[in-house]
Amino acid sequence: MTEQRIAIVTGAARGIGASTAKRLAADGMAVAVVDLDEVAGKATVDSIVAAGGRALAVGADVADRAQVDAAVERVVAELGAPTVLVNNAGVLRDNLLFKMTDDDWDTVLSVHLRGAFLFSRATQAHMVKAKWGRIVNLSSTSALGNRGQANYAAAKAGMQGFTKTLAIELGPFGVTVNAVAPGFIVTEMTASTAARLGVDFEDFQKARAAETPVRRNGVPDDVAHTVSYLVSEGASFVSGQVIYVAGGPRD
Ligand code: NAP
Repeated sequence: MTEQRIAIVTGAARGIGASTAKRLAADGMAVAVVDLDEVAGKATVDSIVAAGGRALAVGADVADRAQVDAAVERVVAELGAPTVLVNNAGVLRDNLLFKMTDDDWDTVLSVHLRGAFLFSRATQAHMVKAKWGRIVNLSSTSALGNRGQANYAAAKAGMQGFTKTLAIELGPFGVTVNAVAPGFIVTEMTASTAARLGVDFEDFQKARAAETPVRRNGVPDDVAHTVSYLVSEGASFVSGQVIYVAGGPRD
């Protein structure tokens, strides 16, 4: 039997991260469920364990180097050396440029980009040592531009450049690095966007589905399924790609 792969999924207490953690566990991996609050990750861990899997809840702010390094050390000690990383943790601080504060900008860039950088740097040595690894970064269709999201669009476009560069640097060591760029996915994040715009979430979802070629909105499992493929053994020749999971084409 091949050795069990150890995966880290950040922002895995809920939404896309939770769904991805459960999917990777169902695929046979042991999964570290990282979120700001360790207690918040317990529900995801309980669900994985109840299904017969192995998981660990770890509290860490992905933007804090000391917390990230400590989280990875804990994963190594309690689960084993991580060779799969999904940089999923994210926040929104939407505002039109003229109203966007320094904090709106810094928070979004820190959580998405600095978080992905810190976790990738802290885990790469384990992947290089194993001569095998998989990193998946969460980008977004907003990388192509979206009103009210100058900070988020910059971060998500940055994730794509970060992904392609890591793919070049880590490829010689058997490590693939890809990005998944979802369109509208029904989660608390999109519910908060509807609330900010003062639109009923059901109406918001109907409008978004109507403008999507497959005529429905995405669910977290749609993204988890794509991540599952990218981290699979058979996807070793797919690297540096951005896969839009958006119910239709994107440029
Ligand atoms: P979500 O429901 O808001 O979940 C995000 C998770 O990340 C939360 O559990 C949150 O914890 C955690 N988190 C936030 N800041 C963190 C930090 N500094 N350190 C550790 N964990 C942190 O979001 P989602 O919709 O599942 O989105 C997941 C990812 O997909 C994000 O990167 C997002 O940008 C991307 N995405 C989402 C959509 C969409 O339509 N939903 C579309 C494209 C891309 P707290 O609850 O404690 O804040």
